[in-house]
Amino acid sequence: MKKEKIYEKGEILTETTAVSLQIKKGKITGIEVEREGRRQVIKTEVVVIAEGGYIGNKELVTEYLQIEPHNLYNMGERKATGDGIQMLAKLGADTSSLGVFENHAASAVSPTDLKWYNDTIFTLTNLPFLWVNGEGKRFVNEDICYDFALWGNITYSQGGFYYYLLNQKQIDYLKDNKLAWTHSFERTFASLTNDPVTHKVGPFPGIMEDLNDAIKNNLAWKADNLNQLAGKINVSTSNLNSTVARYNQLIREHDDRDFGKSANYLEFPFEKGPYYAVRAQSTTLGTIGGLTVNDQLEVLKKNKKPIQGAFAVGNDAGGIYDTSYPTLEGISCAFAWNSGRLAGKSVIELLKQGFKEYYE
Ligand SMILES: Cc1cc2nc3c(=O)[nH]c(=O)nc-3n(C[C@H](O)[C@H](O)[C@H](O)COP(=O)(O)OP(=O)(O)OC[C@H]3O[C@@H](n4cnc5c(N)ncnc54)[C@H](O)[C@@H]3O)c2cc1C
Repeated sequence: MKKEKIYEKGEILTETTAVSLQIKKGKITGIEVEREGRRQVIKTEVVVIAEGGYIGNKELVTEYLQIEPHNLYNMGERKATGDGIQMLAKLGADTSSLGVFENHAASAVSPTDLKWYNDTIFTLTNLPFLWVNGEGKRFVNEDICYDFALWGNITYSQGGFYYYLLNQKQIDYLKDNKLAWTHSFERTFASLTNDPVTHKVGPFPGIMEDLNDAIKNNLAWKADNLNQLAGKINVSTSNLNSTVARYNQLIREHDDRDFGKSANYLEFPFEKGPYYAVRAQSTTLGTIGGLTVNDQLEVLKKNKKPIQGAFAVGNDAGGIYDTSYPTLEGISCAFAWNSGRLAGKSVIELLKQGFKEYYE
């Protein structure tokens, strides 16, 4: 790698990667950057890391993830590979908040073709049908799909996946008829623009072909009866049978006493097969657990003392969230902008006062 000048004082460098920190006697003395095969060490005693977390780093994700990695579908920034986090971890930064993921809804993903997409299956995944977890049990009020954060978090908490169930009668109905339900994406965007929602989904004229396509792509299964379906999706047969029997009862009584799903969605009892199960899995927008910081955005060690000259913002700063993203979508962007502004103010203060006075 050529050592060449990349940086002139006061310049903003784009398309340039921060590669490593230069450290002398435990203190930051510079940062090495790389651009188009050239490297340069820029002298500095102050760094603000803002690389967007580490969702693009498979090893780190596996270390901090609380579900099997194959159950996580990543929609986040692949260039966020935790470089700055790892540089400051070497200086003793507290990494205890690192394991928080921005869970977002759930997706029907083909394990054999990540690029596979089908509009019908996408829409069905966004509706509150009957959902069962890996034990074959219901686990939530399925109209949680109308809140992306809560939906993402419940999916994550179930091991990162669940199945939604349909039967032939329902599918035949959906082929020709509109459902008086709402697509969760429509609901979310309408709430942002204060528009009314349509309460109309479908019909899905190609639903059979679309389901067969999902079956071919290993994310949906068909069976003549529930016992067979339980075998195919690897859940307890007795749990699946009791879940469906109980769900049918709640539908008949038009009252979800178990989870409180709105009576609007208590349609389609499962009287007979064939039955279908579609797998939905955890989806993330990125990591939002970063290094521990204080309200000046200074990066802290485990003993809560700052690493002098080190700041972290946005997804690189931890401690904002407890264990998951809350139902206040928009705060991760808002925090990225605001923490950047606050870190900028801190850096100005540090440079004005000097290290000795600032850290006294
Ligand atoms: C599909 C999607 C939808 C989202 N929707 C919302 C939403 O509706 N509301 C909301 O609040 N949030 C949303 N988010 C999350 C939000 O985008 C992030 O929380 C926010 O962008 C984080 O900002 P950041 O500055 O920490 O990181 P980023 O915006 O990811 O910026 C980090 C930058 O650092 C660069 N970088 C990485 N490593 C290095 C390196 N070594 N050297 C130099 N540069 C490096 C990256 O390329 C990137 O450009 C969404 C995220 C995704 C993926």
